[in-house]
Amino acid sequence: MSGRIDVGLLGATGTVGTWLAGMLQGHPWFRLAEVGASPGSVGRAYGEAAALEGLPGGAVPGDDVRALTLKPLSDEWKSPLLLSALPSREAGPVEEELAGRGHVVVSNAASHRMDLDVPLIIPEVNPDHIDLVHRQERWAGTIVTNPNCSVIGLALVLAPLHRTFGLQAVSVVTLQALSGAGRPGPSAADMLDNVLPHIGGEEEKLECEPQKILGALEDGRVRPAAFPVSAQTHRVPVAHGHLLAVSVKFEEPAGPDDVAAVLSGFRGAVLEERLPSAPDRAIEVVEDPTRPQPRLDRDRGAGMTVTVGRVRSCETFDVKFSALVHNLVRGAAGAALLNAELCHVFGCTAGARAR
Ligand code: NAP
Repeated sequence: MSGRIDVGLLGATGTVGTWLAGMLQGHPWFRLAEVGASPGSVGRAYGEAAALEGLPGGAVPGDDVRALTLKPLSDEWKSPLLLSALPSREAGPVEEELAGRGHVVVSNAASHRMDLDVPLIIPEVNPDHIDLVHRQERWAGTIVTNPNCSVIGLALVLAPLHRTFGLQAVSVVTLQALSGAGRPGPSAADMLDNVLPHIGGEEEKLECEPQKILGALEDGRVRPAAFPVSAQTHRVPVAHGHLLAVSVKFEEPAGPDDVAAVLSGFRGAVLEERLPSAPDRAIEVVEDPTRPQPRLDRDRGAGMTVTVGRVRSCETFDVKFSALVHNLVRGAAGAALLNAELCHVFGCTAGARAR
């Protein structure tokens, strides 16, 4: 296993951090070498401070990983590649500091997603946006981000539709799982027999991130796509898996059969080298009118495939459908890992050196 690149995990004890640790277990290119968390966890062994059971695919981090000592974010990090699963309020300055020290920082957090020189990437959709890192002259290293968990599901399905028919307008209503709120999340008393019709900051992300992802890279800048998105978000008592009810209006004529055919045929941007965490199919369309359902469909493609169903005509837009994304895999840990693999393929990690 020698020759793998050492990876540091920021926010290693949280919901996304622990899932990242699981997905890094046995990774062919990367080795989890350093872990960091809040002052309350610093100094403890990772295996004692974090819940490393019940991770995706039954992954169980080995004794070497469990024995790692949690370090403060301000510490010296030796790993060239740092995966950030920090809350946004902490991530902003910490990620800048570490990029300034020469690290490649691949982040789940919202802090830098909309920065003009920071790529916001879904590798199957806009891998070319990685070129934005060449504009990051403010740091010796780089910051690369993945979208919000609901946005990843939405932008993945919108991408082939926009390229084929042109999007005029999008409406999305989300039913979002509890694990999307991180720890401790909403209380059982709030969620039992209930739905919360507000998730702070979520609608704003759904209304601006897709246009950056589906924008065109021109002269070293992203020209955002022009279609508006109207979003309404809800927290529901589901463990994992965000369900999206999407309505789309097109510039070109298109009906449900056209939409289903384009989504079924989507294979993603062609990458010369296959990324180890990429699923065979990023989108799958199911015909059963009772699907997709979180419990039955979130693990499709080991959690990396977005499931689309109920594709039908819309009375106010052109077509409507349901889409399901595993918020912790395709929407977070898997998204960051895929972006880290993309950074590696594009040579970002080769030049990275901690100072
Ligand atoms: P979480 O469960 O609350 O975990 C937060 C992590 O950050 C923990 O490891 C925590 O360490 C650490 N942390 C908190 N405050 C810190 C501080 N002051 N200094 C250093 N470390 C600190 O959050 P999460 O759900 O995993 O989300 C992590 C990030 O991913 C967020 O930016 C979130 O928006 C984003 N994201 C989450 C999802 C999702 O579905 N959950 C999806 C996409 C993106 P301690 O354990 O020591 O407190």
